[in-house]
Amino acid sequence: MAGLSDAPLIRSIAVPAVCLLIAFLGYFSQFLFYFSTTLEPGPPSPRETIIFNTLLAILYLTYFRTVLVDPGRYVFTEQVIEVDGKLRWCKKCEAPKPPRAHHCRHCARCVPKMDHHCPWTNNCVSMTTFPHFLRFLVYTNLSLWMLGYLLWQRYYSLWESRNLPAYLGPSLPALVALAALSLVGSVTSLALFIMLVNTVKSWVFNQTMIEGWEQDRHEAIADRGGRDWWDVTGPDGKKVRFERIEFPYDIGIFANMAQAMGTSNVLMWFSPLAGNPKVGKDGAGAGWTWEENGFNRKEGMWPPPDPEKIRRAARQQPTARRDFAAELRELDMSPEERKEAFKQRQEADMKRKRMLVAELEEVDGSDVGDGSDDSDGAVHDGDRGLDGAPGWTNTDGERLEDYGVDDEAEEDALDEDVPIAELIRRRKVLQRDHRDD
Ligand SMILES: [Zn+2]
Ligand SMILES: [Zn+2]
Repeated sequence: MAGLSDAPLIRSIAVPAVCLLIAFLGYFSQFLFYFSTTLEPGPPSPRETIIFNTLLAILYLTYFRTVLVDPGRYVFTEQVIEVDGKLRWCKKCEAPKPPRAHHCRHCARCVPKMDHHCPWTNNCVSMTTFPHFLRFLVYTNLSLWMLGYLLWQRYYSLWESRNLPAYLGPSLPALVALAALSLVGSVTSLALFIMLVNTVKSWVFNQTMIEGWEQDRHEAIADRGGRDWWDVTGPDGKKVRFERIEFPYDIGIFANMAQAMGTSNVLMWFSPLAGNPKVGKDGAGAGWTWEENGFNRKEGMWPPPDPEKIRRAARQQPTARRDFAAELRELDMSPEERKEAFKQRQEADMKRKRMLVAELEEVDGSDVGDGSDDSDGAVHDGDRGLDGAPGWTNTDGERLEDYGVDDEAEEDALDEDVPIAELIRRRKVLQRDHRDD
């Protein structure tokens, strides 16, 4: 599926193409069974007809809901959202990015609990669309198995009449149509069955496709490092600790399933008319925070950092750490004062930068460290994916971009990326707090 959703043609024809595929398998098959006078055992029974058409109607309904339901959006009021010291920041939305959200380049926004952007529904599978997507897959698979059963009946009759003269058997067009339906039907069944199994897995384990990828990468790096933790030097000279962590959102099978469906009423899970979880308002509630299982030493450790990415960033821009307090003080200064303060900061930055470059050259020059820093020496030359480009890929050669994630917006924003507008917002809140004291 990688990269498929990038082609504009695919994006515009995907939904009509899926509708056409459903019509071919669901209605052309019935047309053949009813009107071919030569295909035994004749039209399906009234009971079979009712079941099959009910399944088809539900399938269309759940498909359209998967396509049309909004993947969710974060609405920010003036409130400041701080995430436990480590703020994830989306450069594209210019807003904080709550846990489990990713910026989708097709939906052009941060999507709550983004699973992947599905080219066949031209929509994100997310916190809000997941129940519809799961129901769509369930009813599609049921419909396809029913179609398989109806086709099998016709093949069985063919086998039964194998000793009859050929002119008494089905006509050539009927046989061609039967073969075409069987071929398209089996390819579709296989693809959608695999999709169903993967989706049920992510439902039961409460782990999105993207998080599955992150976990694979995390385990690969941890195994290669061969120890429980080590420090990596970040772009600002700050140490970032890499340590083995557990996936935190698996809070128990039933709780996982109820959370994803937005209700613990099991009867509603497969109702095609049931709703979906809604993103909370005012920076709180569903979609903003997620319950964790407490297996890690603290909350908010997911996603685990990618040491290679941090090192790459450090090599590219060894800039000094920003002094937020100084920037805020400057807002109240006269232009001359501000100029002077800027000069001073620039000088201090240059000094630190020179020191850091020297330090980095030292680290990069010696492949075998003293064991305290960057000790996963094997990946010092840079991680490369299966396609040869920098960065990690899973065993299918997939990168996060292949799930629709905007990789540029995905950089784990250490505080450096917080723009001045957010700082001003923070300051307003701080001042308000002071007045309240
Ligand atoms: Zn975003
Ligand atoms: Zn999307």
